[in-house]
Amino acid sequence: MPDYIVMLGAPGAGKGTQAARIAEKVALPHISSGDIFRENLKNETVLGKKAADYMNRGELVPDDLTIEMIADRLSRPDCANGAILDGFPRTPAQAEALDGMLQKLGGEVVVVPYIKVPEEELISRLSGRIVCKECGATFHKKFKPFESCPYGKCEGEYLYQREDDKVETVTNRIKVYLENTAPLIAYYQDKGVLQEVDGDQAIDDVLASLIAVLPQQE
Ligand code: ADP
Ligand code: ADP
Repeated sequence: MPDYIVMLGAPGAGKGTQAARIAEKVALPHISSGDIFRENLKNETVLGKKAADYMNRGELVPDDLTIEMIADRLSRPDCANGAILDGFPRTPAQAEALDGMLQKLGGEVVVVPYIKVPEEELISRLSGRIVCKECGATFHKKFKPFESCPYGKCEGEYLYQREDDKVETVTNRIKVYLENTAPLIAYYQDKGVLQEVDGDQAIDDVLASLIAVLPQQE
């Protein structure tokens, strides 16, 4: 049966950083709703044009557009054994829609790691986040993590700061998270799949804590 892992946590908690690492370990695709939206923005697709203003303001893209996009992505062959979802669901309506999709696909959400990080740390992480235009890998200005870029050339022109990581937008995104996404903690707790993980540790230590709550690999 396909297994789906939902990474939960505020913007900047480390969902993308950790999902990429877990994806390698468990051999499931890492599906980031934000990355898919950014790809659509870059390619100026109809979806990208519809999503742009919401994203730049740090607001959520409407549920119907987001749900359709993820349903399409999860129906592709590389998700036949499951997936690691990063950034979706972000509202109760999206969580319910996901349950419906997975029922059709014959799978279920097996674990929801909730990466918990204090708010001051979130702001510092987001305002220092830099992304490689080439490979999408995420770094932070404070560290020197460039060796880990798969392309090995994430310097200078390849690195950029996301438009929505500017300080004004960051504060709004955390507010939007608290209003819309934080209720999902209780939603998944009620289903008995929530696992709280301390995200205020070094990246490798957070990874170790996450691996400890994932279903055992045969
Ligand atoms: P999210 O996907 O939850 O928004 P990211 O994975 O993009 O978060 O991480 C946000 C920023 O914080 C990035 O710059 C990343 O390099 C940095 N980061 C992630 N995890 C940690 C950690 N455990 N300690 C310090 N910085 C981190
Ligand atoms: P972060 O984890 O740093 O907040 P993401 O890359 O996940 O950022 O998302 C960036 C933006 O893309 C969000 O602020 C929002 O505008 C849009 N977005 C991503 N996922 C969703 C979603 N599930 N529902 C609505 N909007 C989304």
